[in-house]
Amino acid sequence: MIRFEQVSKVYPGGQKALTDVSFHLKRGEMAFLTGHSGAGKSTLLKLITVIERANAGRVAINGHDIANIRPKDVPFLRRDIGMIFQNHHLLMDRSVFDNIALPLVIEGFALHEIKKRVLAALDMVGLYGKERHYPIMLSGGEQQRVGIARAIVNKPPLLLADEPTGNLDPKLSMDILRLFETFNDAGTTVLIATHDLGLIARMRYRTLTLKQGRILGGDELASTHTTA
Ligand code: ADP
Ligand code: ADP
Repeated sequence: MIRFEQVSKVYPGGQKALTDVSFHLKRGEMAFLTGHSGAGKSTLLKLITVIERANAGRVAINGHDIANIRPKDVPFLRRDIGMIFQNHHLLMDRSVFDNIALPLVIEGFALHEIKKRVLAALDMVGLYGKERHYPIMLSGGEQQRVGIARAIVNKPPLLLADEPTGNLDPKLSMDILRLFETFNDAGTTVLIATHDLGLIARMRYRTLTLKQGRILGGDELASTHTTA
């Protein structure tokens, strides 16, 4: 689902964010991406969603090499990726329903289909009945669930989360991770960037660790056997 081969990213100005990063996340896998602040986690996620582009190496998503993806094809790629942020990025002047419906509205779904899917997504994150609320009326944990519902409403095969539990206490953080687990059990590939080592230790998932832009551990070895 995600394959990096010797990927490097240097920002304009010369800041090295990623150096020679190789790993393969299989379809259906769930993994953590960890490392200190500044290690390159956000940059790695931005290469997957083509918010940034690599300077060297190969990035393949869902079998497609995206190194030279054309700008007009980027929206199609992003449609396959549900993105969850620490700060939710919710529209505060729109209802919960409208926030979650947004990706479907953009894709041009019919209203009855939008309603069905939004309510199903709300049900999955445990917020059924709150569709008329505004984000400001919800707790931090509930707002994060709205962000998650919006990310999964069009059933993307890949979920990326950037510090999804950053503002939540340990109990709520665990609840959010359990939620990711249920999507993963249903076949979604999940990659969660977090520096919360306590949380990672409580879950038995593969962990990719970045240190100053390099991947630590055995993943470089695994990636030398690439075939795709
Ligand atoms: P993390 O998400 O692990 O905190 P980032 O990917 O945000 O790490 O940052 C990796 C490195 O790249 C840091 O040194 C950061 O300052 C730098 N960086 C991130 N974004 C930019 C940018 N847009 N321009 C220049 N440098 C950046
Ligand atoms: P985080 O650590 O949660 O990724 P940051 O505060 O490091 O958040 O970064 C916020 C935004 O600023 C990100 O989009 C990141 O790419 C960008 N950024 C980070 N470091 C730099 C930098 N040195 N120069 C320019 N932009 C940066």
